[in-house]
Amino acid sequence: MEAIGNLRSTDISSSQGPELTCYDDEPEDILTLQQFYELGAARNELHKRFSEIRNATRSDYMDEYARIQVAPEFECLRTRKSDINSHWILRLACAANPEAARKFVSTELILFTLRYQASNDEQKRLFFQKYSIAFQQFESDDDFKEFIPRLKKQGLSDPTFSDKTELSNISKENYYLVNFSVCPFLVERRMVYLNGGIAFLHYKHLIYVLEPFFTKYQEMEIAKSKKLLETLSTTHSHLVTYLEAMVRRPVSNLGGSDIDGSALQTLTGENIDAFAQRSFPPCMLNMHNHLRKDHHLKYDARVQYGLFIKGCGMSLDESISLFRSEYTHSIPENKFDREYAYGIRYNYGLEGKRVNFTPKDCQFLIRHPGNTLEVNGCPFARLTQDELKPFLLDNCGLAVIGREDQDKQSSGDIEDVVGVQNGEKLDGIDSAGIIIEYIYNNTGAKHFHRACAEFFRIRHKGFNPFEQSPLTSPMAYFEKSRRWLNDQEIKRKETLIRNQREAGTSKGNLVRPLNQQQIQGAVQTPLRANLQTPLKVEIESLNNKNVEND
Ligand code: SF4
Repeated sequence: MEAIGNLRSTDISSSQGPELTCYDDEPEDILTLQQFYELGAARNELHKRFSEIRNATRSDYMDEYARIQVAPEFECLRTRKSDINSHWILRLACAANPEAARKFVSTELILFTLRYQASNDEQKRLFFQKYSIAFQQFESDDDFKEFIPRLKKQGLSDPTFSDKTELSNISKENYYLVNFSVCPFLVERRMVYLNGGIAFLHYKHLIYVLEPFFTKYQEMEIAKSKKLLETLSTTHSHLVTYLEAMVRRPVSNLGGSDIDGSALQTLTGENIDAFAQRSFPPCMLNMHNHLRKDHHLKYDARVQYGLFIKGCGMSLDESISLFRSEYTHSIPENKFDREYAYGIRYNYGLEGKRVNFTPKDCQFLIRHPGNTLEVNGCPFARLTQDELKPFLLDNCGLAVIGREDQDKQSSGDIEDVVGVQNGEKLDGIDSAGIIIEYIYNNTGAKHFHRACAEFFRIRHKGFNPFEQSPLTSPMAYFEKSRRWLNDQEIKRKETLIRNQREAGTSKGNLVRPLNQQQIQGAVQTPLRANLQTPLKVEIESLNNKNVEND
């Protein structure tokens, strides 16, 4: 095998564990093509693990981080050398694609933050020293004493401060003096004491300064990698093919309206339109449609919708990428990153208070219905009965009849009058007029959840899971809908398998009956195969084809 790489030296030893770094050291090791590919693929797998954590909070990430550090498949994190090499390779692989590059930086930032939190003081000190991060400290006790009363007055600079804190317990070693411009987030939220352009930063808040520092560094390094990739594409085109294969997203059959009913499918920017049409309640479907149409949601709707899709299992990366793809119709990307990406990360517990925010329930959405010009809140609570009709017609794929239209029922053509999605037949609907009247009456009587449950029934062929236990949240609506679609899919596959078995038996073949677990597996397996197999196949085929020749 040909060796790859002839890169600048680092003085790291393979026996040392990963260090806090911005990965500006280029690997100098001699790698075989296979090692090169395996390291990059392992790092890519690591990124996938982080982006697939559902409803991730900081503690979820920390748990996952603890798991991957001992998992044998993540050898790429075991030593400094493999950590730096794998980072560098994957960065190169992502550099040419802006979306992949953004995801790369955002996952590496999570890894960096976790590693920073797990590092001891000495490791942090070495990091500051290496990157000449000039955090001055108070030189003399007298200087510090002068500063304490003002600090205490503000009270916010030290997260451990309370009224009872003794002055003698405040250590000058806990404070750093930095230019206010490096910590705009803390200044904005009055979390630092400011004097003459200098921010007095408590060490627990240092991470807020380091995150933008690390991100900026990565963006610079990505730009360098992109240039290198351009050179490689003329000199080592086979290597570029390897890199492209490494990060190529597996082709999914989940996009568009092709989703099946599996409740286990993950919500992504690619398949969200189909999920929304099939399984979002009117409040969220309305916000989703507005996001797609106007490429913008006002603050309340953004929070309610953002938390809902998080609750439905959309990863942070997917969520940022969905909002970015819409917002950048009308604003530049850097404005989106500056003004909106923070709020999304905040919802996922990665900024500010770092709390695991949960989706809003119906009670909240009903009590905060928004005004008529807005799209947040519960539409049944916000809209008048006259407004409800066009709303259901325009936004929810539901045709509504009023009393004057009821004679249409007699035609027996139920699709003419009630709801109607993708040409589906609506089984189990007794009378369109009664349904609409029911929705109207319940809206009028402020039984909004009953109106919504009826809406669910119309959209799910007469099935209403909210008869015994009332609908309490958009999440419950979504989950019941996914479960129902999943059951439909299982039934469909059961019928298919039964038919195949019967056909097999009739030809004299012996076919064992499948149990429930196997039937469930028959539904789920294609999904897993679609997500994972192509990548592995690609690695093997590339290795077989090219490694020995290179
Ligand atoms: Fe959304 Fe609940 Fe209103 Fe239904 S009742 S539209 S789920 S807020």
